[in-house]
Amino acid sequence: THFGFQKVKESEKDKKVHKVFEDVASSYDLMNDAMSVGVHRLWKDIFMDRLWPTHGVRLLDMAGGTGDIAFRYMRQLAAQKNNLKRHSHVTISDINQHMLDVGKERARLQGLTEEELPFLTINWQQADAEQLPFEDNSFTAYTIAFGIRNCTHIDRVLREAYRVLKPGGRFMCLEFSHLTNSTLQWIYDKYSFQVIPPMGQILAGQWQPYQYLVESIRQFPRQEDFKKMIEDAGFELVYYENLTFGVVAIHSGFKL
Ligand code: SAM
Repeated sequence: THFGFQKVKESEKDKKVHKVFEDVASSYDLMNDAMSVGVHRLWKDIFMDRLWPTHGVRLLDMAGGTGDIAFRYMRQLAAQKNNLKRHSHVTISDINQHMLDVGKERARLQGLTEEELPFLTINWQQADAEQLPFEDNSFTAYTIAFGIRNCTHIDRVLREAYRVLKPGGRFMCLEFSHLTNSTLQWIYDKYSFQVIPPMGQILAGQWQPYQYLVESIRQFPRQEDFKKMIEDAGFELVYYENLTFGVVAIHSGFKL
């Protein structure tokens, strides 16, 4: 029938769209895995462990990309059987709509949707971290993983994070940082400058973005300086924790 035909057509299109999304997402994953030898997954797990969300949280995952952080949040909530009466919320936001489209599709494939997780409202929203379209005091937690380094004005990102958090809300950032030991830093510099751009060329067919990646990591403020910037934005009880000798650091602060 006409309708039958249309159905077949649609499912073919669906499959094509899937494939495009999956190609992008998997090359993104492949590069993350290759560059960090898979450790980025562990860093993200630890990051979510530190936040340890419980039901009732309203999370804004900024620069959320394809959802790696938000998915961990959803799974952590799903694993907590008690207290389901408290409704939770997550907004996954990124400046790049395409990343969000990939993320939305992956969420669907992994069963991370409002239908599957009825205790949760999920909102995918394109936005610039430096100028958020959200009201003051609207979230209880704000996460940004491997995203703030790419923003032009870090101080604006922090000010916006502070503005949209409710009093008592927590800011958490996971970002590449600086090694605590100078010998290790020397080895790491060699690795990153000599290995990452060629690896980008081979695996993703691009040298320049990976050269930029390495340089942006070098230029990002050191742990103590970044801590100071977070305090300057108004956050209190600010601390940081180095992971893998400072290859990455988790910074945390509260709006009190
Ligand atoms: N948080 C995800 C993760 O850990 O897998 C994605 C990290 S990805 C390396 C960096 C993301 O930051 C990209 O998706 C990019 O589009 C986003 N981004 C860059 N500048 C941004 C800005 N000014 N506002 C919001 N997102 C931004």
